[in-house]
Amino acid sequence: MRIDIITIFPEMFEGPFSESIIKRAQNKGLVEINIHQLRDYTTDKHKKVDDYVFSGAAGMVMMIEPVARCIDHLKSERDYDEVIYMSPDGEILDQPMANTLSLKGNLIMLCGHYKGIDERIREHYITKEISIGNYVLSGGELAAAVLVDSIVRLIPGVLGDETSALSDSFQDGLVSPPVYTRPREFKGWKVPDVLLSGNEKLIADWKLEQAIKRTKKRRPGLLDD
Ligand code: SAH
Repeated sequence: MRIDIITIFPEMFEGPFSESIIKRAQNKGLVEINIHQLRDYTTDKHKKVDDYVFSGAAGMVMMIEPVARCIDHLKSERDYDEVIYMSPDGEILDQPMANTLSLKGNLIMLCGHYKGIDERIREHYITKEISIGNYVLSGGELAAAVLVDSIVRLIPGVLGDETSALSDSFQDGLVSPPVYTRPREFKGWKVPDVLLSGNEKLIADWKLEQAIKRTKKRRPGLLDD
């Protein structure tokens, strides 16, 4: 998989993409992430990427030309499955969406700033708009980093057995059951006996029962589907 991110703050990705699973995925060649500085696609000497919003309202808008030039350039080199704009009013990211995107080949992710991007980019270039929740961030970078993490960990070979994505919350429409490690007892708080029983059938039943119980309590909406 190849991911191209368009941003005016490339450094914001340095931390998230140079540690842990995302780092390992890149080192293994399972994903290639390229960060593009939008200012490199400007033509004026001040490398201007924003302009006043028409209508006299307060705030700046990301200009159409640099974004168009950058996307055109990327598209001239390869085909993309999706050109994604990170947007608070986009489709809310969830596990099924991450699963679907993890099967794609090439993705562009555009990070907005200020009041957002010129609407004509959304109309003519963007094929998918994604939000990471109903709240407003100051830029699309943190949202794109969240999206990348949710996708990349699902690419086959990225996670080892010990962190298998299939047993995570939401994959089977349920949240995850509680987990424990050593010691068996801490301050008198005990690990449930069944988990130490060695009886695989009993353990599987317990996990399912716990997952259903938790889902009912914490995410009842999941049980409606
Ligand atoms: N004026 C816009 C918000 C702009 S926030 C509005 O009211 O809808 C600036 C940028 O941050 C956006 O262009 C978008 O790329 C990003 N952003 C903000 N909140 C986000 C969210 N919840 N999910 C994804 N991207 C978000």
